[in-house]
Amino acid sequence: MKFSRKIEFVSLSIALLFTFLVEVSGSWPGTDQPPPIRDDFNALVDFTKIPPAPVRSNETLCPETDTYCNFACTGCVNGDITVCPNPRDWGLTFDDGPTTFTIDLLNYLKPRGLKITFFVVGSRVAESPEILKMAYDLGHEIGVHTWSHPYLTTQSNEQIIAELQWTAEIIKATIGVIPAYMRPPFGDVDDRVRNIASQLGYKVVIWDRDTKDWTFTKDLSFDFNWIKGNFTEWVQEKPTTGHISLQHDLYNQTASQGPKVVPIVLGANYTIKSVASCIGDNDPYQRKKVLNNPPKNNFTSVSQDQPTLTTVIQESTMMTTNLPVSTQTFYVTNVANNQRNFLNYLVMTVNIYVFVHSVIINSM
Ligand SMILES: [Zn+2]
Repeated sequence: MKFSRKIEFVSLSIALLFTFLVEVSGSWPGTDQPPPIRDDFNALVDFTKIPPAPVRSNETLCPETDTYCNFACTGCVNGDITVCPNPRDWGLTFDDGPTTFTIDLLNYLKPRGLKITFFVVGSRVAESPEILKMAYDLGHEIGVHTWSHPYLTTQSNEQIIAELQWTAEIIKATIGVIPAYMRPPFGDVDDRVRNIASQLGYKVVIWDRDTKDWTFTKDLSFDFNWIKGNFTEWVQEKPTTGHISLQHDLYNQTASQGPKVVPIVLGANYTIKSVASCIGDNDPYQRKKVLNNPPKNNFTSVSQDQPTLTTVIQESTMMTTNLPVSTQTFYVTNVANNQRNFLNYLVMTVNIYVFVHSVIINSM
């Protein structure tokens, strides 16, 4: 490449990166703040189909009878993904990022060709969109983990919808797709939360092996060697299924455990996979699914216990294209802005390009 071409390339790259960061930064709800409820988000969900499980007033209060199958209270599961079916597969998952500590983990996984799952917090995507994009571009699976990390069964239907949809919106704005998998914070999910998640197009993912790595923030006696010890014991168990393990990339101390446990899992002849991949789904995003399999305009009624993607498809005046409702909403709420903003972004990119280019030339 000629030197002048290099200057042009560097200038254009900087201009495009800046435009990308401006495009996704926008005005999003604050970090770890409950996001605002929106009518257009609520319209994505048929409230008459939501099971009437009571909203828990406090995460420590569990119902005497577990009528609505709360995993956090009793370990009850109802169609949730908790294991990899193949006994030699291991679904490695990290929650609560993206953070700067995610980068070291990505750099460790990359040369080893390992793809895992990150359940991301929407408000942290707003802080570090470039790290989410890095993980996605490296082929890792991105799942939804809410905007502000509440106990979902303590939230109203509208609050749950806001937590999930705001996160979907910022993921879509950053990497162009909406995930098809979500993980409830603290595993706090009941049939009410499951139904809302399903109507928004998500399968619920929990885990069957919990490192409890996050407890180091509360328990001063926590020893990080326990995590390696746990994995060493888990891989020695005679497996009837593969496993899905839970770790966190929110803290340096917990994210840095990834490179310590991967050799233990691989050394025991497990194959490390993303959750979607280990259950045989190589396309874990809603947008791609719809493009490959356009839905009909017919509303399909299905059992509340086993809702499918078709549940979220409904006839409406919005249905001008064969897109799922969640994708349509993104279009309805953003296309007008995007079309108006496109010229602004173009002008901004050209301006930055000219500016950077002239700075480099003048400094020579
Ligand atoms: Zn979490």
